[in-house]
Amino acid sequence: MTSSPKPRRVVVVGAGIFGASSALHLARLGLDVTIVNDGAPANGASGRSLSWLNSARREDTPYFRLRMAGIDRYRTLAATRPETAAWLRFDGGLTWDADDEANQIASICQLEQSIGYDAILLGRAEVAAVTPGVNAGAITQQGAIFNPGEGWVDLPSLIDLLLSEFRARGGKLIQDAGLVRIDIGGGRACGVVTAHGMKIDADAVLLAVGPATPTMLAEIGVHVPDATPISLLLKTKPVKSALRAVLNTPRVAVRPTPDGAFVLDSAWSEEEVIVNSDGTHTVHDETVQGLLDEASAVLEGNPRLQLASYGVGPKPIPGDGEPVLGAIETIAGIYVTFSHSGATLGLIAGELLAREIASGNPHPMLASFRLHRFG
Ligand SMILES: Cc1cc2nc3c(=O)[nH]c(=O)nc-3n(C[C@H](O)[C@H](O)[C@H](O)COP(=O)(O)OP(=O)(O)OC[C@H]3O[C@@H](n4cnc5c(N)ncnc54)[C@H](O)[C@@H]3O)c2cc1C
Repeated sequence: MTSSPKPRRVVVVGAGIFGASSALHLARLGLDVTIVNDGAPANGASGRSLSWLNSARREDTPYFRLRMAGIDRYRTLAATRPETAAWLRFDGGLTWDADDEANQIASICQLEQSIGYDAILLGRAEVAAVTPGVNAGAITQQGAIFNPGEGWVDLPSLIDLLLSEFRARGGKLIQDAGLVRIDIGGGRACGVVTAHGMKIDADAVLLAVGPATPTMLAEIGVHVPDATPISLLLKTKPVKSALRAVLNTPRVAVRPTPDGAFVLDSAWSEEEVIVNSDGTHTVHDETVQGLLDEASAVLEGNPRLQLASYGVGPKPIPGDGEPVLGAIETIAGIYVTFSHSGATLGLIAGELLAREIASGNPHPMLASFRLHRFG
């Protein structure tokens, strides 16, 4: 990959975590930045995310290292901005597997320890002293891994914080713009056009449109393999519980929220969502109740959990599961950020992408994540 000319004006399409973070980092580097979003900020996947900050169950790959750098940036944010304490927490993560032949708890713990990822293997009886609020009886006989360095973030609160600094630095946010399209002229990106026909000129365009990435790229003749599923996130009503860690268990993932409730998701409940022919989704009451029951079963005292709300929609995942970050190369001036784990990666990806765009020089930590790896 070679260096590109340095842009002065950048349009960022999308105001989820990747758009907000990249735009702020670009503004910090002195560029003239406009974010254009179809609706209000955080109205996509970032508004209905479990947002567990982690690099768990991974070998020592570039993806593992990028995630670790992502967690590092959150640590810095937590240390320098005390007002984040209600919605950015490092209370650890606890995970266990089903009691079957696929149980990998011991080997995963060994792997994590071998690459310096903080991991402790706990038997059922040891969990309460390390991380309270868990029903020890629900933990399988192989035990659980506690990862003390993990945490969680409330993405809408983070996006709010990032956008307020973005605006203070002179960045422009255009929301409710409808579906924006990229404007191409002379073989390169020259801005975007909003659904209402407003043209915004730019030297570079960053697509941070989450699950809409494959469709938007297809409109300009670029293909990206897509493994985006429909996801479901439930939010409970506030409930008294000592749980502070994020739980990843065979039937449910649970993480606390800033207002004393929990958000929940799981693979099986996602699969039960019906996608209707008009693009809307149907979530069965049994799925909702089933997930609430699974969460209650892993919490100490099995508290009765009640539904407050749920979010349903696509969860952005590229075809090979790894992030797609950086210039698309076939058309000058277009950059993309399309990834799962966008909570963990949000701050670091925005920072590194902004450096690439502003300097024209590719960042070595993003080398494995280029679109052209798909050929
Ligand atoms: C249920 C669930 C659980 C998750 N769990 C975790 C986790 O535990 N840990 C973790 O790290 N990550 C997790 N993720 C992933 C993470 O939340 C996402 O990777 C991240 O939120 C994606 O952010 P984004 O900015 O790419 O997309 P989005 O938040 O979807 O933002 C894209 C924005 O672009 C807008 N847009 C789209 N098309 C256009 C257009 N043409 N014109 C204008 N605007 C447009 C959308 O409306 C949206 O506002 C989870 C996600 C989900 C859904």
